[in-house]
Amino acid sequence: MDASELTREAVTGKLRSHGVGPTHQRIEIAHALFSRMEHLSADQVLAIVNQHHAETSKATVYNTLKLFVETGLVREVIVDPTKVFYDPNVEPHHHLFDVETGEITDIDAAAISITGLPDLPPGKMCAGIDLIIRVRGKSTDAGSREDGRLFESPQG
Ligand SMILES: [Zn+2]
Repeated sequence: MDASELTREAVTGKLRSHGVGPTHQRIEIAHALFSRMEHLSADQVLAIVNQHHAETSKATVYNTLKLFVETGLVREVIVDPTKVFYDPNVEPHHHLFDVETGEITDIDAAAISITGLPDLPPGKMCAGIDLIIRVRGKSTDAGSREDGRLFESPQG
């Protein structure tokens, strides 16, 4: 699907399927996320929805994003308390975060295997594991992410 062709009607259907009443502002906020399929901060969402008309308040954006997270429409990725991203990809996956550029990208869940989980409390089961791999340093090959070479060998 070409994301740029995402219609307001499709967004409305998506909101309804998650039990979210499709108000004009909710549709615009959801459209900002799902037409891009990028990790956006609340401030970035605010800037996008107010690009043409300053009609949506910061409080509305924050409350709406909170509602989207609660209803499972988007996922919250908390890199640290000052860096929270809203992720339209709710499939299980991990993240690569560049601490120098602030760029965050997806890592396929299948690309990482986790062994040696600690014993969980009696009666509890693992509901999910979210990893954030933090990287720094210069990228020596701009295309390295495309061909799957995510990791450089550690250097001093
Ligand atoms: Zn993601």
